[in-house]
Amino acid sequence: MAKSKGIVSIVVPCYNEEQNVDAFYRTVDNFSKTILYELEILYVNDGSTDNTLRNLHNIADKDRRVRIIDLSRNFGKEIATSAGIENATGEAIVLIDGDGQHPIELVGTFLTIWEMGTPVVVGVRVQNQKEGIVKKYGSKFFYSLFNRLSGVTLVPGVTDFCLIDRMVQLEYGKFTERNRITRGLIEWLGYKREYVPFSANARTAGEAGYTFSKLLSLALNSFISLSLKPLYFAFY
Ligand code: UDP
Ligand code: MG
Repeated sequence: MAKSKGIVSIVVPCYNEEQNVDAFYRTVDNFSKTILYELEILYVNDGSTDNTLRNLHNIADKDRRVRIIDLSRNFGKEIATSAGIENATGEAIVLIDGDGQHPIELVGTFLTIWEMGTPVVVGVRVQNQKEGIVKKYGSKFFYSLFNRLSGVTLVPGVTDFCLIDRMVQLEYGKFTERNRITRGLIEWLGYKREYVPFSANARTAGEAGYTFSKLLSLALNSFISLSLKPLYFAFY
């Protein structure tokens, strides 16, 4: 076997994904055979109330590349992701959902772009095979409001499916916001970036844990933490 080029971390936040854990792991394991990097697979169990944690331990018992961070309760994807970023030891860190929606093969493209010297590579969703109208327009509304209010311009469709270099990880670790939105903070940090379009798969199983009200509160929280404008409103 060819010599490993180094370690790349895959950070996977999981909330009640018991039905998806095994299938997701298999796709990552297969993918790992196609690259020259060694993987560190870092799962963050975000206070799941089902058998997610047990299923993850079954995998970790057999695969020394797998590590588990078990949060004390459900903090939400953004904080779970941050816990993963903070604890990742790879030279590059990939963020990916554990429900099968983000195509792992794309990480090969992320890695190629990173190797050529781009420290941030972001997946941009171009279409969803099974997306409700509320979510579709909700997400349009989210991006336009976010961009208008926050002063940080998010490309519509950018997702948390991304790769960041270790130097970006170190800067990310300096944020102290409790209400955070990962993609907004990564955008705010700057750095040379490239966007890679992809179409999201349908969830392998289960329901999205993000309800409309959770998304709305996330959007509001991120405006408030990234922008001074809400403060002006309060003042007037
Ligand atoms: N997730 C999490 N904590 C939560 C909600 C979701 O860690 O409170 C994880 C979830 O297990 C999945 C990813 O975040 O791996 C994306 O969540 P989901 O599929 O519910 O969101 P959507 O696909 O609608 O963005
Ligand atoms: Mg999902």
